[in-house]
Amino acid sequence: MIEKTKVFFIKLNEIEKIKNLLPEFGVSPVVKVHFGERGCDTFVPAKYIKQITDNLDQPTFIETSVLYKSQRRTASGHLDVAKEHGFDWLTIDFLDGEEGDDFIEIKIKGNYFSECYLGRGLEKYKELLVISHFKGHGGSGFGGAIKNLGMGLASRKGKLAMHASIKHNIQKEKCISCGSCISHCPVSAIEFDDNKKAFIKQHKCISCSKCISVCPVGAVKIPWGSTGRKELGEKIAEYAYAAQLNRKCFYINFLINITKECDCNDVHMEPVIPDIGILASSDPVAIDQASYDLAVKQSSAAENFNSDPQLHYAEEIGLGSRDYELINL
Ligand code: SF4
Ligand code: SF4
Repeated sequence: MIEKTKVFFIKLNEIEKIKNLLPEFGVSPVVKVHFGERGCDTFVPAKYIKQITDNLDQPTFIETSVLYKSQRRTASGHLDVAKEHGFDWLTIDFLDGEEGDDFIEIKIKGNYFSECYLGRGLEKYKELLVISHFKGHGGSGFGGAIKNLGMGLASRKGKLAMHASIKHNIQKEKCISCGSCISHCPVSAIEFDDNKKAFIKQHKCISCSKCISVCPVGAVKIPWGSTGRKELGEKIAEYAYAAQLNRKCFYINFLINITKECDCNDVHMEPVIPDIGILASSDPVAIDQASYDLAVKQSSAAENFNSDPQLHYAEEIGLGSRDYELINL
């Protein structure tokens, strides 16, 4: 009989029990968390992250830049937000560099991608603790371990590849003709039109996303929503698969402050599901499946979080198993 994947449940007020579950990491394991967008206050609080990671030997935290216009679009801005949110004691390695454009290509045989663009810094790390906030996500249903791993470790080019099925373009009414995108485009795909408004020559564009990061007024429009929920979820699963390849990983999901939208929103959001607790597992698919199942049991509001296609696909490509055994600690 095949043994089911173990997923451990820990009450929030017994968080210290997690230290007995952590695998044998060596010196300087890395920890992936989400520091929350400025204005958001429902990310996993710094005090809980500290309680867990104080059990590790000299951990380094890792992050990548976001795709959209935000303080977290650059490493230095992201660091400021992390500090504002109480993450002021740790060392953070921004894997994709200051501008989010430093990446490595990981080869996979996916239905969507044959190569995934992850933050270059990931290359040097072989042990990874992924601490995720389970909550809803407008694009993919919910965000948990798979999303934190796949989207969270992708460079901006990778994030764009997952989010957009069609090419981005420039909104002429917003363009202030500064020329920054033109001077930064690595393949000279952007020019001014007769009215000195920038436009992209789509046949030349290699989707590096540089113009998105350098435009001071957010005139480069990302076609959010051009990738449907199923496709986005499956693409994230492929990136998550690439991120964990040849790495020793362990996953912790916090099922608290469960909001309808994710921590990339720059506003206060009311939780829609009462707090549940913490899950821990060595399997990103099992822990996300268990998170979703517990959330549905807790409240019908979680039915909107349905990410079945992602979980099925993640299992199909060998990222993990949906068949788990829940163990109460
Ligand atoms: S995404 Fe990159 S290649 Fe395409 S237009 Fe923008 S800067 Fe140029
Ligand atoms: S960087 Fe933005 S504002 Fe400047 S020219 Fe390009 S699109 Fe226009």
